[in-house]
Amino acid sequence: MIMINYKELGFKSGLEIHQQIEGRKLFCKCPAIVNDENEPNIKFKRKLRAIAGETGKIDRAAEFEMSKDKEVIYEACSSSSCLVEYDEEPPHELNKDSLDIALQICLLLNCKVVDSIQFMRKTVVDGSNVSGFQRTALIGTNGFINTSKGKVNIETVCLEEEAAKKVKEENNSITYRLDRLGVGLIEIATAPEIKDSEHAREVASIIGMILRSTGKVKRGIGSIRQDVNVSIKGHNRIEIKGFQDLKNIPRTIDNEIHRQLKTKNEEGHVRKANPDFTTEYQRPMPGASRMYPETDIKIIKITKKMLDSLELPELISEKTNKFIEKYKFSEELSRELIKMDIDFESYIHKFSKVNPEFIANVLVEVRKEIQSRFDKEVTIPMIENALGYYNEGKVGKDAVYEILVDFATKGDADLKKYEQVDEKEIEKEIKEIIHKNKNLSFGALMGEIMKKYRGKVDGKKASELLNKHLKQ
Ligand SMILES: [Zn+2]
Repeated sequence: MIMINYKELGFKSGLEIHQQIEGRKLFCKCPAIVNDENEPNIKFKRKLRAIAGETGKIDRAAEFEMSKDKEVIYEACSSSSCLVEYDEEPPHELNKDSLDIALQICLLLNCKVVDSIQFMRKTVVDGSNVSGFQRTALIGTNGFINTSKGKVNIETVCLEEEAAKKVKEENNSITYRLDRLGVGLIEIATAPEIKDSEHAREVASIIGMILRSTGKVKRGIGSIRQDVNVSIKGHNRIEIKGFQDLKNIPRTIDNEIHRQLKTKNEEGHVRKANPDFTTEYQRPMPGASRMYPETDIKIIKITKKMLDSLELPELISEKTNKFIEKYKFSEELSRELIKMDIDFESYIHKFSKVNPEFIANVLVEVRKEIQSRFDKEVTIPMIENALGYYNEGKVGKDAVYEILVDFATKGDADLKKYEQVDEKEIEKEIKEIIHKNKNLSFGALMGEIMKKYRGKVDGKKASELLNKHLKQ
């Protein structure tokens, strides 16, 4: 692929990030479940209809959807939806926890928080909202994040409702599941100041890290979505949606630039990101005149007192740096430990005789290795037990691995197998092994010793003893 000179091409790019909030839905007490595993016990139908905006003009995107003339089927589980989702009851009061999370995020993104929050109705025409609109409110503006290529401004932070999830589309009908409808969503829009395709990935990853730092957002596939706006000189703006992995962003953007260079200027539109880094046409760009005030929800004044009382979480990036500084762990190990969301400090106190790096390695590396080798889960309690035995001197360092394998594969471990053997006894045995195998190399002798004492003696100790006796 040819090198891209972003500056010369007049590359302009901004991100829009959507992140689901954990807890309860935005305007009812239903739990924020996005994939209810229950069988849907409620089903009803509506017809798609386009709604004229304030200008009386029917939105272009609405027209596009209308042209399909479809019936919409809604399926819901009463465990994750109520009358609010069915649009048979007005929205309840705004979920205070979700508002707090949105405000925290604004402050972490250095935004100016609005004085009063006014929810708006944004027309949605594809049927993904039973009411035909999505509720959205501006929470913060004019923020910024620092990146390796300079400051990137955050234009807006909004709090809005998730849409229902499309589960089936046929010739004359679309089916939606309502579990996800009404789940709180943070929408963050950056200024079009991203410098190149790799920078887009970095900006997305920093914003994702800030969102996860709150500890209150959903994790896993689909819980965060990155839409990338891309344009080059002489071409209209294209929006790319549906990235499965942040890693795919740079190559997909570069491919899109090459595609634009090969095509005449087209009307701006939305494209879908494919796993093979290509994109495909999805739909026209939605028009702008589609918002009107939501009168069912009171305007919320944001006072200085409210903002002052918010406790801001420590950023994951700051925590990582502290780990690196304090324990001299690698960045990778530090990041993995933080991801596990455990109180590492407490492990150091609890297993005071164990080297902190060994604890960290067992928690991260050993756990991963055993899991992938045996395809069995190594749980935190298993690790705590194994480290406990070692800390109490019941077993040796090497036995920790073996015990974890036993726990994971057999559910239990026979500690007798790993009881530490008296040093004198081992020394005696080592002398004998040396005597019997005069021609063997050091490595082969070690192999003989460990065959007999695996887990019962520390490998390092055994090699020291072997060395000592070989020299004699
Ligand atoms: Zn509900």
